Amino acid sequence: MYGYRGKLLQVDLTAGKFSTVEVPEGYFRSFIGGKALGARLLLDRKLFLADPLGAGNEVIILTGPVTGSFVPGVGKALLFSKSPLTGGYLDSAVGGRLSHNIKMAGYDGLIISGRSPQPVSLIIDNDMVELIPADDLWGKGCFESEARLRERFGCDAAVAAIGPAGENLVRYAMIQCDFYHQAGRGGLGAVFGSKNLKALVVSGNTPLPLFAPEDLFTRCLKLITEKKNDQNILFRIKYGTLSTLDGNQKLGIAVVRNFRDGVVDRYETDMNRDYFRQHLVLRDLACFGCSVPCAKLCKVERDGKEILLGGPEYETMSLLGTNLELSPEDLIYLNWLCDDLGLDTISAGNVLGFVAEAMEKSLLEAQEVGAPVIWGDVNGFAKVLVDIAYQRGIGRILAKGVKKAAEYWGIDPDMAIHVKGMELPGYDPRGTTGYALEYAVADRGGCHRRARPLRDEMTDEALRFAYEGKAQLVKDMEDVRAFQHSLPVCDTMPPRFGLKIPDYLEMLRMITGLEMTVKEAKAVGERAINLARCFNYACGITQKEDTLPGRFFKEPLPRGASAGKLVERDQFQTMLSDYYRARGWTPQGSPTHDKLVELGLAEAGGMRE
Ligand code: SF4
Repeated sequence: MYGYRGKLLQVDLTAGKFSTVEVPEGYFRSFIGGKALGARLLLDRKLFLADPLGAGNEVIILTGPVTGSFVPGVGKALLFSKSPLTGGYLDSAVGGRLSHNIKMAGYDGLIISGRSPQPVSLIIDNDMVELIPADDLWGKGCFESEARLRERFGCDAAVAAIGPAGENLVRYAMIQCDFYHQAGRGGLGAVFGSKNLKALVVSGNTPLPLFAPEDLFTRCLKLITEKKNDQNILFRIKYGTLSTLDGNQKLGIAVVRNFRDGVVDRYETDMNRDYFRQHLVLRDLACFGCSVPCAKLCKVERDGKEILLGGPEYETMSLLGTNLELSPEDLIYLNWLCDDLGLDTISAGNVLGFVAEAMEKSLLEAQEVGAPVIWGDVNGFAKVLVDIAYQRGIGRILAKGVKKAAEYWGIDPDMAIHVKGMELPGYDPRGTTGYALEYAVADRGGCHRRARPLRDEMTDEALRFAYEGKAQLVKDMEDVRAFQHSLPVCDTMPPRFGLKIPDYLEMLRMITGLEMTVKEAKAVGERAINLARCFNYACGITQKEDTLPGRFFKEPLPRGASAGKLVERDQFQTMLSDYYRARGWTPQGSPTHDKLVELGLAEAGGMRE
């Protein structure tokens, strides 16, 4: 079929062997690529049985039909695995050149399995595949590892590498790609580390036949040209996601002191988009082929050394910055440290917030932690991060995430801000019932990317605190996003370019020749959500874990536009039941046989109990 390669490269690290796996052609119509195909493959390959850090787990990296085309926002690869952080379903998107280069090397994706006896890097250059020793890189940070690989493989290669956190199996270690992009969530870096896989380098230049390339080129050029001076897009380019704090501050749902406040005091002085733009941003950065460079390259000096950072984006600004009450300069330093060590900034920020609150309440002592960890003081936070990455001292416990850390010390679980073991991003759910639901049901745990209910809630105060109607809203948004992630396209693009499902279907037809209706497209999204749910059930993650940290049910926000608000437990439970009903699941939240049959997934049903 046009637009696809029809095959995945399978790499067996144990045997050092490579082979290709054909993707059944029917899968492209049912799952398209990216998210839905990945969820299908995780189940097909029975990864729910795997120890996340054992040789039996795999990392599946997928592109989709739009990858390698001119469609705006196609520079995303999706990585799948069984998560070492949650023990369940995991996907994580990453920008950079990785998706493009995998497709140009002649594959729709990669399946990396087994465990190498010694540290290696996987090198792919079109149909040449090899494993090279990585002993010289083992122990090095992400930046140095990539720089060394680039000296050898050049600027056009995609380079994805782990840092010490991945090597030392920190459960929220990430994989960094092309210096400034991360597959951040859920511990993919630890899965690489468990396989002794330090890095992946991909190059390719194999032409990709498209069904109607001229039509596609004309369509995309028109789209980009028409939007060239669009104010919304220019604003996005100027500030990136840093402007998200404006809305969250206004609504009182920013993250401060481990989710104990929703208003940022520094916002008025320096923790805001204009301060970053005027004092810290050097230039704009984009994912491969994107005309909306929303990422920012920032520069700060620390100890006489220049630090260059691709970031921060909003979630990091929130969890490492406002949460810990740091200055913008200290936030950039801590973000850079996370990137070099190979740590997910969202989870790391939550873990540091948890430690600071525990010390504030004398639940942990400085002697045990190894340094005073105080709000606003970057040095203590930096020391703890390094201890986590190397699993030293208290870092051995914190490397497992806040859920396990609270259990280990017998600390009030309400202080551990996570869902299903994954730490939460930068929107306080007490001021957005939509996110309260979305966090609770998101397939990979505490996640803000499966739906964006705040888009509707932001301008409607009553809707923001309403429980009724949220189940259908979240369900519909999840299905559409899962379809977008199956193409896959960057989910921030459709609203900016005014692109709806029919627009993507038109472009999909120009790429593949495949005709698809809107109903079929939404069914692709629904399949992805149902398959991920079945995977979680097979891992033992059930409806019991569709909940929120106790803090949000018990402690009202103290000030701001959401002052006095908490998540009302009864209404939350009703909303959850409504969501299961909207999904066609049982009252216990399990996909029904009828729903799976309707979606053509009957055989996945055996895994849902
Ligand atoms: S909009 Fe931003 S995140 Fe999305 S593809 Fe473009 S640069 Fe990447």
